[in-house]
Amino acid sequence: MTHCPNCHTKLVADGYNKNELVKLMVKQFIHTFTEYKDEHYCEKCVHDYYKIASDNYNEQQYEVDKIFKTYSDLIPLISIGSPFGWEYETIRFVKVTLFSDVVDVNGQRKLDESCYDAIRKEAIEAGGNAILGFNYAITAPYNVGDITPKFQIQLTLTGTIVDVSKGNLDANFEVARKNYLNILDQIKLLKKFSKI
Ligand SMILES: [Zn+2]
Repeated sequence: MTHCPNCHTKLVADGYNKNELVKLMVKQFIHTFTEYKDEHYCEKCVHDYYKIASDNYNEQQYEVDKIFKTYSDLIPLISIGSPFGWEYETIRFVKVTLFSDVVDVNGQRKLDESCYDAIRKEAIEAGGNAILGFNYAITAPYNVGDITPKFQIQLTLTGTIVDVSKGNLDANFEVARKNYLNILDQIKLLKKFSKI
């Protein structure tokens, strides 16, 4: 192939005028989040398509987060083994590891929230609706910088995902949970392209 089939610009392997076809993942991203289904895009013509795909991606992510937020607080995170009277089925152990820059008090609050959300999402995706024996550990800041110091912390959240069978959860929970499960495929798709 000598020219981009989409915009007909010459393809050049390297040098100042370098212009190559974009990677498969970028192409799939455009196919998934726009109506454009061209077989190839090159570095010269991809920008507009990529921008539309990114905007659609962000919009969908925002909507998904909004739905999740409406009931993430309904999923109990409990640091003891088993509250009195609870009947539940154990699904599995869960561990979530996250990295963050060192943050101030407000930043820490936000970080906590996103950590809680991360482990709750795991619970829902595993078919659970509560987390028992929840534990949250933060390392001391450690330097990941090269010449300029840059400090990071590592957060590890663990717990046991359970399915509480009767009477222990908010009545809104089942409705909210169904809403979330309805968009689970969309969530998985968004996750697939989250590192693009
Ligand atoms: Zn092109």
